[in-house]
Amino acid sequence: MGYFRPEIEAIAGYKPGEQPQGGKFIKLNTNENPYPASPKVADAIRARLDQGLEKYPDPIGTAFRIRAAEVLGVEPDWILCGNGSDDILTILTRGFVGDGEWLRLPTPSYILYKTLADIQGADSEEIQFNDDWTLPESFGTASNHLKLAFLPNPNSPSGTVVPKDQLRAIANSLPCPLLIDEAYADFADDNCIDLVRENEKIMVSRTLSKSYALAGLRFGFVVAQPHMIEQLMKVKDSYNCDALSLAGAIAAIDDQKWVAENKAKVVATRARMTGRLRSLGFTVPDSQANFIWATRPGVKLKPIYEFLKANHVLIRYMQYPGITEGIRISVGTDGQSDVCLDLIEQYLQQNP
Ligand code: PMP
Repeated sequence: MGYFRPEIEAIAGYKPGEQPQGGKFIKLNTNENPYPASPKVADAIRARLDQGLEKYPDPIGTAFRIRAAEVLGVEPDWILCGNGSDDILTILTRGFVGDGEWLRLPTPSYILYKTLADIQGADSEEIQFNDDWTLPESFGTASNHLKLAFLPNPNSPSGTVVPKDQLRAIANSLPCPLLIDEAYADFADDNCIDLVRENEKIMVSRTLSKSYALAGLRFGFVVAQPHMIEQLMKVKDSYNCDALSLAGAIAAIDDQKWVAENKAKVVATRARMTGRLRSLGFTVPDSQANFIWATRPGVKLKPIYEFLKANHVLIRYMQYPGITEGIRISVGTDGQSDVCLDLIEQYLQQNP
């Protein structure tokens, strides 16, 4: 066509995981929460709807920032709201990385990061995780063109975490800001909000899509020092969060009791799934997220994904050419997880 910037026409673009509509599948492929959100969320959205939608929403989500700041132990001006954390990642990439500059990311990790760099005409520099999912020290190496680093923690697809001391050291040696993508941190033993206070180069992003069971609402945020947030405000769309999602997000973050109870259920099921997959012969790293990553050299894994799909269970088959392939299974309810694992066992028995 030739109408677009060459970097747009050159890329394949990010393809989100399968999202079949209509409830035909047990959906364990995109790390959604299997339980319904806090009922207070729907109440708040209904109440906001009753007030009418003819006026623009608060452009910076003041009420959310106040409530989230209390929960996280920071000040409201340390928070910037986004339309999901993908919006936050876009804002950061646009804000820090330009044509010909570099974005550093680990691999295998979240595939969107590279696409965001591509759209900017930037180069993405991929640092490969070690075989045991530890992160090489070279992730912190300084270089002139490097303008931003993304690090999911817990990582996807592995569910593993990089120790906090290493993150601290990486941020100190990097010449650029480090975004610790904590999309899954509410399911983990620890998080890095305290590092944001220690180092202005560290930012932490969060989402309500996973641990708040609100993937359909589209709400995420980033925590950073106020002078960083001030600059990022210039990059975001004026009204990137709509009035209904803001109302829902405030009710969600307010209900920490729901979050804690949900975490306990997910973590218990995660342990059961991990144990069962290991007993079936899979290698499964210890996950701190709401999904698990299973590999099994010598067994073709794509047919397992296809067998499950034919039986109305969706999981994710992922291939990282030259590095690894595996299946990533989101933690479902106990019942959903059992259906999935029974089918995997059945497949392995039929295909020894
Ligand atoms: N970061 C990571 C590591 C993810 O896996 C996801 C989910 N696809 C996101 C960010 C984005 O989630 P959302 O836009 O729903 O907040």
